[in-house]
Amino acid sequence: MRYSKYFIPTQKEVPSDAEVVSHQLMLRAGMIRKLTSGIYTYLPLGLRSLKKVERIIREEMDMAGAIELVMPAVQPAELWQESGRWDYYGKELLRLKDRHGRDACFGPTHEEVITDLVRREVKSYKQLPVNFYQIQTKFRDEIRPRFGLMRGREFIMKDAYSFDAGEEGVARSYMRMHEAYCRIFERCGLAFRAVEADTGTIGGSFSHEFMVLADTGEDEVVSCTSCAYAANLEKAEVKDQVAPSGTRELLPLKEVATPGAKTVEEVTSFLSIGPEKLVKTIILEADGTPVAVLVRGDHEINLAKLKVFLGAQVVEMASTKIIEDVTGAPTGFAGPKGIRVKVVADNSVRNMSNYVTGGNKKDLHLANVTHGRDYAISAFGDLRIITSLDMCPRCGASIEFRRGIEVGHIFKLGTKYSKAMKAFFLDERGEERPFVMGCYGIGVGRTLAAAIEQNHDEKGITFPLPLAPFQVALLPLQMHESRVVEAAEYLYRELISKGVEVLMDDRDERPGVKFNDADLIGIPLRVTVGTKSLKEGGVEIKLRTEERGSIAALHEAASCVTNKLAALNDSLK
Ligand code: ATP
Ligand code: MG
Repeated sequence: MRYSKYFIPTQKEVPSDAEVVSHQLMLRAGMIRKLTSGIYTYLPLGLRSLKKVERIIREEMDMAGAIELVMPAVQPAELWQESGRWDYYGKELLRLKDRHGRDACFGPTHEEVITDLVRREVKSYKQLPVNFYQIQTKFRDEIRPRFGLMRGREFIMKDAYSFDAGEEGVARSYMRMHEAYCRIFERCGLAFRAVEADTGTIGGSFSHEFMVLADTGEDEVVSCTSCAYAANLEKAEVKDQVAPSGTRELLPLKEVATPGAKTVEEVTSFLSIGPEKLVKTIILEADGTPVAVLVRGDHEINLAKLKVFLGAQVVEMASTKIIEDVTGAPTGFAGPKGIRVKVVADNSVRNMSNYVTGGNKKDLHLANVTHGRDYAISAFGDLRIITSLDMCPRCGASIEFRRGIEVGHIFKLGTKYSKAMKAFFLDERGEERPFVMGCYGIGVGRTLAAAIEQNHDEKGITFPLPLAPFQVALLPLQMHESRVVEAAEYLYRELISKGVEVLMDDRDERPGVKFNDADLIGIPLRVTVGTKSLKEGGVEIKLRTEERGSIAALHEAASCVTNKLAALNDSLK
């Protein structure tokens, strides 16, 4: 490709609305442009890299036995009503009406469409297992679109859906995808970890997220310092503590006036106690029914765990009105004693006694509260977010926290969709059984952004070779010197004939501009042809990440380049 005939609108200034480095660099390198919030155009250079990610994904999916198709972006509401998600998906689902007033949505994911297809087309166990995938545009009306391609509203996803006859089958399909995902992210040159994850609105029983480790990641990953356990913070289990030996003396319950003190900080500093001596009472609504959840003052409630624990579709903070109704007090004074709703508690509350809670009356708290004696807890569970003081739930060693970008997510769905949508096949005995499903997503644009987040320096992107838009930047430094131009043209033809992806910067620009742009867009190998290099015997060949290059004779330069590229490729394996 000739730079002068191509379109790479690079820019020097760091765009003011781009917070993370991958977003800044993709804008500066002329890879993407924003149309409106969370919606981007892939410019030619960005598209080339995106296609590289897609190609790696395609090759690995095909190799793992998945079959490519493309499903429609617009989906009829009826399918979503069948699965039950039309009412639950919330505002992320972009809902549309057609000219007949029929409801539809722009697909944020495709479980419904694929289940509909398979229930019509696949009838017998003999046709199983089957796994379909597509690479296609999704729309999710994210509440906070940000970081460029990382969290867009419109974005490209690879999504795959497996159908098996039973549990053993789906476990195999899941493992195959797990392995394929590891190969995909390895081939992209990323440092990542597969972690246990929550199943969110997709549902299902079991899932892993593939996290690219980066400080700017929106997710927090908890991992054991000793064993292989790793999980999303949302999901990380907290080991239930063993009961302390001996019984503690129960002190008499007493009321304490706490004028104006509502928050844990306010109450504990007013009473001069540590937050671990207080039990917070949080009023939530689970599918519309209020429930009180207790956690220790220094712990945070985990809504994802609570949702699973209560078996609810939607768990949200209760409105002020509900809180006042169930406690009989303004917000900030809720407590379990005398409350008019079911009370559940985190495991860490089980062994506590003589603690402080709200008093269900304005400016009142209770001290020396103990469950069993003063009020009843109907169930205990692991309902809180893990902290750095907790231990690995598997082996008991200490844990560490790191930030990650979720680039892929795989789920064992089970029969959630097949049962709801009556997707059945006939087994060996001719009996109808629901398909056992799995689903597997990769954010294509997010993977590219994550790669840049991990591979950059102060001059720009340092693309891993497999994702670079071009492999080689060929820079003739003096376009008015015929010797330089001739040598560059010769090498350009040679490289192309060897199948090398080369971008020749044939613009009439100063060398500094050419160097800066080549560094900014992050092409892994730079070949410079100038009056100086010719005098030294040929052309200069330099890796993007090397400080200094070396001179190669012109007629040997092309094979020198292919050798370097091969070595770069090998270093990734
Ligand atoms: P997140 O928690 O980041 O919102 P998710 O769990 O909702 O992601 P999935 O439904 O599992 O995402 O989607 C599969 C993959 O699609 C994700 O792993 C991610 O790489 C990508 N993805 C999801 N939402 C977005 C988005 N708004 N922009 C870009 N990529 C996305
Ligand atoms: Mg999401």
